[in-house]
Amino acid sequence: MFDVTEIRTDFPILTRQVYGRPLVYLDNAATTQKPLAVIKAITDAYSTINANVHRGVHRLSQEATNLHEAARETVRHFLGANSTAEILFTRGTTESLNLLATSFGEAFCHEGDEIIVSEMEHHSNIVPWQLLQQRRGIVLRVIPITDDGRLDIEAFKRLLNERTRLVSVTHVSNVLGTVNPVKEIVRIAHDHVVPVALDGAQAVPHIPINVQELDCDFYAFSAHKVYGPTGVGVLYGKERWLEQMPPYQGGGEMIGHVRFSGTTWNELPYKFEAGTPDYIGTIATARALDYVEDLGLSAIASHEHALARRALDGLRAIPRIHIYGGELSSVISFNLDGVHPADVGTLLDHLGIAVRTGHHCAQPLMERLGIPGTVRISFALYNTEDDVDAFLAALQRVATML
Ligand code: PMP
Repeated sequence: MFDVTEIRTDFPILTRQVYGRPLVYLDNAATTQKPLAVIKAITDAYSTINANVHRGVHRLSQEATNLHEAARETVRHFLGANSTAEILFTRGTTESLNLLATSFGEAFCHEGDEIIVSEMEHHSNIVPWQLLQQRRGIVLRVIPITDDGRLDIEAFKRLLNERTRLVSVTHVSNVLGTVNPVKEIVRIAHDHVVPVALDGAQAVPHIPINVQELDCDFYAFSAHKVYGPTGVGVLYGKERWLEQMPPYQGGGEMIGHVRFSGTTWNELPYKFEAGTPDYIGTIATARALDYVEDLGLSAIASHEHALARRALDGLRAIPRIHIYGGELSSVISFNLDGVHPADVGTLLDHLGIAVRTGHHCAQPLMERLGIPGTVRISFALYNTEDDVDAFLAALQRVATML
C-alpha cells in the first residue's frame, strides 16, 4: 500500500514551515529530500564503522569496505547491470558524463569524429563534449526537438554516419518532462554500430531501469535526486567499453603498480576511482535505493502521475498559462504570459511553495523555445494532492497580482 501520509513521516524536513506556512516542496528535480533511513545511515556509518576503505587490515576498515562494496552491489541490482565491475562511483551525473567524455573521447575520438547529443540536454551533457571538441577537434551533432517537445527521431536517423562515435542523450528531460524513447534510440544507434550513453538523472527516481534490457552502453545518475546524499553519482558502463578506456584521474586506488618507469592500472571498476571514495555517501545511497525499491518504482510513478495530471488540469484552467512539453511525468514547466519566471517563483516562495525558475541548465533548449526560462514544478514520492492544490491556489493569486 502506498500511504503518502505515512511516507511523509519518514522525511523530517517536510514538517518545517517557511514564512509561517507549511512547506510545499516542488523542486524535486533539483534535489530530493532525504528519509530518516538515509540520514541515519550517514550518522550510523560515521558513529560506528568510519575508516578509510580498501587495503586496511584493521576491523573498521574491513567493515567500511564491505559496506561500500555492498552498496555497489545494491546499485548493480537497482540498474539490472551484469556485474559490479560495470558500476563506477562518481560525484554525480555531471562527473559521470565528464568521465565518459574524457576517457571515451581519449580512447575512441579523433579529429572529425562525431558525437550526437540533443537540443534538450542539460549542460552536463553538452559542455563535457565541447571540452572534448576543443581537445580533439570532434564535431558535435544535435538532434532537434519537435514543437511538442519530443526528439525528432527521423532527424536523429539522418545524423548517424560512419564518423559517429557515440550518441549521448537524456532519458527524461529536466525541463519538459519528456520521456525519450531510449530503447528505440539504442536500437537505431546499434544498427549503425554506435554506442549510446543515457543521462538518467531525471529517470532513475521515477522509472524502473534495467540497463541490460535497454541495452544502453552507458548510464549516468546522481544519488541526491533519488533520496540519497549529495556528492555521490554512478556511471554504468558495459565492461567491454570500460576495459578499453583509459583512467579518468590518477591517484590512489586506480593503480596496479606505480613505478617511475611506468604505472599499470587497477582492474574494473577501481581503474576509474582515484582517491578516497565517498564511502559514507555510497553506503547511504544504498539505503536510499532500498527505500525506493521497498515502495516500488511503479507505485511511485503512478502516484506521481496522478499528481501531474491534477497539476496539468489545474494549470490549463488558469488563463495566461503556457505549458512547455506537458507529457505526464514528474516535471512540468510553464510560464505566465508576459511575466518573468523569476517573479512568479519569488511570489510563490512567499506563499510557501518551493519551485525552480530559470533556464534549468538547458540554455540551448531555452533558445529553441525562444524564452529566458520557465517556472518548473517537479514531484517526488512524498508529494500530495494537497501540495498540488496549495500550489494551484497560490499560482491563481500570483496570476491576479501580476
Ligand atoms: N542531467 C540532468 C537531466 C539533470 O536534471 C541534472 C541535474 N539538474 C544533471 C544532469 C546534473 O546532475 P548533478 O548536478 O547531480 O551532477
